[in-house]
Amino acid sequence: MTKAKAGASTSIDGKIKALDELFAHAGLKRGLRGKAGARPLGFRPDRESPEDLNRPALPPTKAKNGVQWLPVPGWDQIEWLRAGFSTRLGGKSRAYCADDAPGELNLGFTADDPRKNVVANRRLFVAAVTGSAATPLVGLRQIHSSLLHRATAADAEREQPWKADGIFTDRPGLLVGVQTADCIPVLVADRKKKIVAAFHAGWRGTVKRIVENGIGRLRLEFGSRPEDLVAAIGPGIGPCCYAVGEEVRLEFESQFAYAPELFHEVYDSDPIRTKYPMLFLTQRAPGHSPIGPSLHLDLIEANRRQLLDAGLSASAITVMGGCTQCRTDLFFSYRASQGHAGRMMAAIGIAPAQVKKPVARKKA
Ligand SMILES: [Zn+2]
Repeated sequence: MTKAKAGASTSIDGKIKALDELFAHAGLKRGLRGKAGARPLGFRPDRESPEDLNRPALPPTKAKNGVQWLPVPGWDQIEWLRAGFSTRLGGKSRAYCADDAPGELNLGFTADDPRKNVVANRRLFVAAVTGSAATPLVGLRQIHSSLLHRATAADAEREQPWKADGIFTDRPGLLVGVQTADCIPVLVADRKKKIVAAFHAGWRGTVKRIVENGIGRLRLEFGSRPEDLVAAIGPGIGPCCYAVGEEVRLEFESQFAYAPELFHEVYDSDPIRTKYPMLFLTQRAPGHSPIGPSLHLDLIEANRRQLLDAGLSASAITVMGGCTQCRTDLFFSYRASQGHAGRMMAAIGIAPAQVKKPVARKKA
């Protein structure tokens, strides 16, 4: 996702209906869906502070070429699988950092960063993940949809990437990836059939069930069984920071019975009030002066629920942690930088036959 901003609601009933038909056809059981307005009378979301809701980031791994990236814990056991999430650290870009800072790893063709930097950065990231800078990388033109693209190596040569928000392949020797800068990246692999997929899930794509849709397609096209799938949910804007409008809650409540569990009422503590309580004595008691509340959405949990509904077990799903807006030292965040941000990538692929896995060097 490039924009995490909540905006006008879109009509999605047609797409949901098509997805229901797809699921029925694929023989997948759809999770419970609530009726519109299923919220129990008098429902109040939990009141929490941003700190309560933050999931800390894992320390990145540093590749020989300087790129700092996040492999998925445990996935090194799957010999043929190559996958990881980028951070902003490493690379050649200077568009989003201080003049004296080292170059950064912007992986999106943004307006402010020369194309040659992004091309070079993509080679660095690909080399970190696969051990070879020559591995073709197929990305997408992302449009906050539930559209999917089945990739081949030829796609890497295309001038214009395909318009979609999910990408999957059974072809060894290439990486497929999605770009994010607050939205949630989700990687999925079928351990038995050697299929890989990457999904881009902002709030709109999540309401359109991009992840459920994608797993339905893997089932249809390859016969993937949910019990053979593993998934990783990468860094994105966390429930600590992701304030949304009431219209977003209404969209989720119209689609998911569990929607109330995805929203939190958050009181942002005000650092000035905490530090100088005497200034506020006439207003509220010091130390008990929350501002708010605001409505925060947990998009990571929303996508985890879709993976569970698609039949994955909880133990097959890795939540990487790391909030893009809290950790602008580590991640690009569209919201935190008012839109002037680079892009990260989540990429996944099948190793070409008889190629050994590269050894990750050390923790950064
Ligand atoms: Zn945060």
